[in-house]
Amino acid sequence: MEITILSPGIYTYGAMLIGGVLRDAGHRVTLTRTPAVPADSVLLMSLFSTQHLLDPAIRDLVRTHRERGGLVYVGGPVSAAPEMVLGELAPDAVVVGEGEETVIRLVEEGVSDALPGIAFLDAGRPVVTPPAPPASMDRPLPLIPDDIGNQSVRGASAYIETHRGCIGGCTFCQVPRFFGRAIRSRPLDRIVEEVKAFSAHGATRLSVSGGTGSLYGSTGGEMNPEAFIGLLRSMAEVMGPKNVSSPDIRVDCISDEILGAVRQYTIGWVFFGIESGSDRVLRLMGKGATVRQVEEAVERCREHGLRVAGSFIVGYPGETERDYEATKDLIAALSLDDVFVSSAEPIPATPLADLAVRTPRDKNPAFVPHTGEYRALSLTESEARCFDLMMHADLFRPQLRLVTDEVYNTYLAEARKQGRDIRAATELILRYARA
Ligand code: SF4
Repeated sequence: MEITILSPGIYTYGAMLIGGVLRDAGHRVTLTRTPAVPADSVLLMSLFSTQHLLDPAIRDLVRTHRERGGLVYVGGPVSAAPEMVLGELAPDAVVVGEGEETVIRLVEEGVSDALPGIAFLDAGRPVVTPPAPPASMDRPLPLIPDDIGNQSVRGASAYIETHRGCIGGCTFCQVPRFFGRAIRSRPLDRIVEEVKAFSAHGATRLSVSGGTGSLYGSTGGEMNPEAFIGLLRSMAEVMGPKNVSSPDIRVDCISDEILGAVRQYTIGWVFFGIESGSDRVLRLMGKGATVRQVEEAVERCREHGLRVAGSFIVGYPGETERDYEATKDLIAALSLDDVFVSSAEPIPATPLADLAVRTPRDKNPAFVPHTGEYRALSLTESEARCFDLMMHADLFRPQLRLVTDEVYNTYLAEARKQGRDIRAATELILRYARA
């Protein structure tokens, strides 16, 4: 069968994996980042953002492809809310959750209520079949496009999946809901084979993905530092340490041996999801870590000569001015090498989405007009905090970065864009919560 997989904007690992699964099942598969699809091809869309459901180009593509008689199936992280995908895009079916095994049966046998792990419309009524069992972690090589070397996702050609699941329960995150809280790791020899294949296709740098890299090899809630260190060492043997990164690590999932290996076998960066300088907000977020743990983790990384980036979330429902000031103080104290700021975005089927439904608009910072320092800019409270924190962070980097007019306008545009996207996502979630 002729199959085109659309992964909008970037080749995600999930799209490449599904491509590999279908290729090994004997189908002719093309992977594309742009919505141009031959009429005679089955179209699989791998969608990872709520914004994709609202994107006019994607909506048009589904409609026109189906009008031309083509089949359209949607999978990826958006499938956590199958009714929403069916309601917004009306594809032939949604592959719900881990789709490696379901997708083969779907393209070969078609839509059926006997097929677990899918959702479809039956006379306009959504039908969601029982969940498919978790997919095997021993699976085919991904379909790696020849231009993978041109892609840069935070500096990496690709984030390869070494394990699934996360022990965390952060309210804003989909990972533990999609993959579960138990860690399932891939065999090391299969990962190495995959790293070699990526390298042969021109990948210049590979990153470890899976929520928290150092959970690789964990079993029964016990971390296995040796497994993680072996993983980094093996990746570095193929790519060279300057071309491997494993940035995403929880502050409570580090040790001296883990940080030593990150220093020895990777580019030497750690990326902590710090989120807030207020313990109260960290508790609201279900982060499972305290500000004190953040401070200690950053200090420990520095002792190992690592560079540390941190991400922060502002405008979480319930965040007060005092909480926000605590976040600014923490950024000043940590002097991080890089800082990423985002406004709290409710992702469907997460506890934050439920909270957004329960929070009245006049109490939700994503909708409340800002009346403070930036009132002349007509921002919402979360947009104002996002904008302000981006500029604030620049004052405390080890390397001074001047906030020029251009930087100011870039930050302002970014804060506004995030605000628009979050309001659109919230409206969507509210609409389906009421349905
Ligand atoms: S630690 Fe990271 S991957 Fe795990 S739940 Fe929290 S944000 Fe998600």
